[in-house]
Amino acid sequence: MLEQAQRVLKDVFGYDSFRGRQGAIIERVARGGDALVLMPTGGGKSLCFQVPALLRDGLTIVVSPLIALMDDQVATLDELGVPAAALNSTLDNDQQRELAVRLRQGEIKLLYLAPERLVQPRMLSFLQQLNVALFAIDEAHCVSQWGHDFRPEYLQLGQLAQLFPDVPRIALTATADKRTREEIVNRLELHDAERFLSSFDRPNIFYRIVPKEQPRKQLLGFLADHKGDAGIVYCLSRKKVDEVSAQLVEQGFPALPYHAGLPSETRAANQKRFLNEEGLIMVATIAFGMGIDKPNVRFVAHLDLPKSLEAYYQETGRGGRDGLPADAWMAYGLQDVLMLKQMMQNSEGDERHKRVEQHKLDAMLALCEETRCRRQALLAYFDEDLPQPCGHCDNCVDGVQTWDATEPARQALSAIFRTGQRYGVGYLVDVLLGRDNEKVRNAGHERLAVFGVGKGRSESEWRSLYRQLVARGLADMDLEGFGGLRLTDACRPLLRGEVTLELRKELKPQAATRTSGGSPASQLVRGEEREQWDALRALRRRLAEEHGVPPYVIFPDSTLLEMLRSQPSTLADMGRVSGVGARKLERYGAAFLDVLAGGASAAAPEPVMDIRHELVSLARAGMTPAQIAGQLKCTEKNVYALLAEAITAQQLSLEQALDLPEALLSEVQDAFLDGEGELPAVSEIAPHFQGRVPEGVLYCVRAALQSEFEL
Ligand code: ADP
Ligand code: ZN
Repeated sequence: MLEQAQRVLKDVFGYDSFRGRQGAIIERVARGGDALVLMPTGGGKSLCFQVPALLRDGLTIVVSPLIALMDDQVATLDELGVPAAALNSTLDNDQQRELAVRLRQGEIKLLYLAPERLVQPRMLSFLQQLNVALFAIDEAHCVSQWGHDFRPEYLQLGQLAQLFPDVPRIALTATADKRTREEIVNRLELHDAERFLSSFDRPNIFYRIVPKEQPRKQLLGFLADHKGDAGIVYCLSRKKVDEVSAQLVEQGFPALPYHAGLPSETRAANQKRFLNEEGLIMVATIAFGMGIDKPNVRFVAHLDLPKSLEAYYQETGRGGRDGLPADAWMAYGLQDVLMLKQMMQNSEGDERHKRVEQHKLDAMLALCEETRCRRQALLAYFDEDLPQPCGHCDNCVDGVQTWDATEPARQALSAIFRTGQRYGVGYLVDVLLGRDNEKVRNAGHERLAVFGVGKGRSESEWRSLYRQLVARGLADMDLEGFGGLRLTDACRPLLRGEVTLELRKELKPQAATRTSGGSPASQLVRGEEREQWDALRALRRRLAEEHGVPPYVIFPDSTLLEMLRSQPSTLADMGRVSGVGARKLERYGAAFLDVLAGGASAAAPEPVMDIRHELVSLARAGMTPAQIAGQLKCTEKNVYALLAEAITAQQLSLEQALDLPEALLSEVQDAFLDGEGELPAVSEIAPHFQGRVPEGVLYCVRAALQSEFEL
């Protein structure tokens, strides 16, 4: 059985060997046994049911809650030559009937379904007439009422055990904890399932956490090492998302915003672009990410602190699903703690719930101030023991120096106490530094013993010290009092001199803004490889556009990288590259060989994104389309098309894109708005303006109207 599985792995998927426990899982399921699979994101869960689906006779039903994910997987299988389909609301009645016929004739190997559809009585009885080979229940943690993605429809999946007693079932999830695991087994009635628990380590992710100094500048420093990479920047608020994405665009980074306050069309369009184009940066609230399966996200940056380690792990886990290096970078400061605590305070829920949340935040803060290996700490939180420091996080690479902060910590705490436990950090630092300003004088605090005792340290050192005191629970924030600090019980032993305190020594600010010293994701390809790498990606992009799929469905980055490194020169060599299965070899092998042989590399176009970017900057700078065309060495027609796109993506206003006389503009707008219902196509009104207005202008105006009215 394992041998057959190996053959399918190589022939269909193009991979040489199974990863982790894939082999054992596939063997178990292909033989008809049940299985519960816990594997981190990017671990390779899909193959665990896709290979058995091909080994077993009959139809495999895949239950998945997310339509976007289904479509992605079906497209991927399609490219591999595996007959698969998704049954969801995007199909009309005719298409559904056609699909039913193909299912009856046994033409389909994998059918993707949402749980609510599967459990409809009509669907169940339809499936009972078919030869069902396997049920795969993806995102199985959705059955857990305590988890974060509970979906009531999942509860009904338990009945599959009785309705299809002879059909094996495999449940898969990337959510680790024990309680959820038991719930899955119970509610899905998987009592005889063999459990396959993998390590939750994501070895290819490099973790770095820096203290917030000038966050935007720090972010730019981080991004400078990631030119051309796709990534996600998480912010807490919608407003900040808008600001940061605008700022990045201004700085020449291709960024898009994503948050729940945007019109759903914009959100969908931005998400689609993020998946389909290369090198885009999504600036987003945590609303973004669920169901994002893009494998080549090269970095995840946090400008604000997540509220728990669970969230941090999940969000950073969206990087590097393809197994290639990815960076998780975060800047955090005291302000974050204040914001999160305030949100928590104002949230619904009882005291117990709030205590749990507080606990989770404390664990998150502890990771930020961790002096040992970050990965060891992170995994330990999920009850996993990593015996050695990882060597692949900032603490391991840079080394953390600690210092005896006992005395200054007592001074800092004493400043809190002596000033009445109601002032924020800024004021407390003024007192410690002996700043004789009006506010201090009004309170009479220049007479305190602590006034000026801290002159030996800088303002930023004191701020950092306060942040660490709060993170360690030695001081707390008064939320009603706008972030005034007060003492906690935990600080008493320190004040009484019974214990000492070791704290992280902070890196010099300039060192902290750079990600230097082990930020490997940016070094995916080396200088001299760049040209060929870009050519391979350009070809992939062209093929992806032709086939209407995201680029990674053609080949993942890891496959292109292997082509680059192993330089196959024959189709047979190409067939040995990991990720090149029989079908893809036949379809694309020759074209990629051509690029490697240098045939197409000379003609490799500039990366499309760079042009888009430059175009936006030039238009904003007031250049006319003709000037832009001259600057970018492309046709005016192209420029108009890209301008229209930028308008749709809300990167440009119509005024920025075009310089059209007022009267003429209104005339064009009226022409579009004259009819009822949908905007007419450009071709319909173009004859009116023949010779007066370039057709490209019409596209731009239409795009602007469309986004204005969200048509
Ligand atoms: P998950 O669903 O667990 O997040 P996926 O099934 O999407 O992970 O797999 C992540 C990536 O790893 C995909 O690009 C997949 O093709 C690749 N992959 C999975 N198994 C293997 C393997 N045995 N060898 C090489 N690549 C693999
Ligand atoms: Zn480490």
